[in-house]
Parts: sequence; C-alpha cells; structure tokens
Amino acid sequence: MEERFFSKLVFELKEAFFDLIFPSDIYCISCKNPIFNEPYSLCESCRQKITWVGDHSCSRCGKILEPWYFSDKCRDCTQTSHYFTRGFSCVEYGEIERKIIIDFKYYGKGYYGKNIAEMMSDKLKKMDMTIDCIVPVPLHPLKEKERGYNQSFLVAKHLSHLTGLPLKANVLKRIQYTLPQNKLHLKDRKKNLQGAFEVNQSGVLIGNNILLVDDVYTTGNTADACSKALVDQGAENVYIITYAIGKNE
Ligand SMILES: [Zn+2]
Ligand SMILES: [Zn+2]
Repeated sequence: MEERFFSKLVFELKEAFFDLIFPSDIYCISCKNPIFNEPYSLCESCRQKITWVGDHSCSRCGKILEPWYFSDKCRDCTQTSHYFTRGFSCVEYGEIERKIIIDFKYYGKGYYGKNIAEMMSDKLKKMDMTIDCIVPVPLHPLKEKERGYNQSFLVAKHLSHLTGLPLKANVLKRIQYTLPQNKLHLKDRKKNLQGAFEVNQSGVLIGNNILLVDDVYTTGNTADACSKALVDQGAENVYIITYAIGKNE
C-alpha cells in the first residue's frame, strides 16, 4: 500500500515537473509547433485535419455515420446489444488522432489528459443527461505500475474538475491481467474480457447514472464488460465517453 502511495506521489510530482518544463499549452499536441492559447492545445491547422464527431452519429455508441447511411444506429449497434445506455466520442480514430493517444499512453505525455478532458467536457455540454459520478476504466495494477499511470484516470480526474462531477476512481477494479485487445482477433476480444472487471464496494452504485471514461472505443467490448459489472451492482445508466472512436464498419 505504501509502495503504491509512493509511486502515485512520484507520478504526480513528475507530472507537475513536466508541466513546468513542457507546458501543454505552448506546443501543439499533434504537430508540436509552437502555439499560443489554442483550444485543446491544438493549432488551427491540426484542428482542421482532425475528424471531429458531429451530430450525425450512432444513437447508441456515438460512431460517425456516413451522410448517406440509412439508419440512426451504426452497423455494429444494429446487430449487437450493449450494456451501456449511450456512448459519446470526441474524434474519429484515424492517423492523426491515433498519434496523440499513442504519445499520451506510451510516451509519457500524461499531461495530454487535460486537453482530452477539455474535449470531452465540451462534448458533454451539448448533451442532455443526468450524471451522478465519473468512473475511469481501470488498468490492471501490474499494467499501471509498468506504464506509471492509468491514462483513463488522468482524463477522468481533469474531467471531474471541469464538470464538478464527483470522481469514483476506485469503485471499479480490473481483476484479470488480460491480453491487449488490439492484439486479438475480433471473435476473441469479448472472451478475453469476461470476468475482467469487478465492482469492489457493494451498494454504492445503486440508482447511479455513471459516466465511464476511456481513451478509445473500437469494438465496444471493454465498454460493455465494464458496464455489465456496473449495471450488475445496481447502476441505473452507464454512459461512455471516449477520446476516439472507430469507423462505422
Ligand atoms: Zn498542430
Ligand atoms: Zn453504434
């Protein structure tokens, strides 16, 4: 426990240090060119290159629908039932969008969490729903130790500050060390996450409308596995917000 506290403290200090040396609002988080006071720390040119999710999106998971597309639900959501009520995403998962998340997750740029939370907060302002608390998708403790931080927790922490919604960071646990989803075939992804998440405090979520925070939504298997654990423990609705979402394929 002490070790965990110590590594968290080291991370917080590191984050503050990096923010001092490389303040996140001086360089564009995509092209790294100098910027001055730009939304989400993205220069105008990068903001234009990014595919933002607009109103014409899946009424269930939030994927962008093509202008000619015939249904209000994406191909996946017309065939699959989900445990969550609705999903929202800020951008579509393409090359530029992916690079930002790779830097954020694997290259120590934890301070991007603030920019991503700002995108999410703006997205949520346009939505009309009641949310009682924010829950980040957890990493397995071993993976968190390896990476030094849980990227979803960082985003959720900033989102909680921006929206004033309480953060329940420790209620959902990852109890299995699973293989990375993107290394598996589509058919194995769901199985990989079976029983991977658990709510560790009984009764605290009864009747709650939860906003689950994750970085990327692709097949929705992670969102579903977490939502099932939360709904099984009495959550009324689980809404998902992610930075990026896959295409309607
Ligand atoms: Zn840029
Ligand atoms: Zn959908």
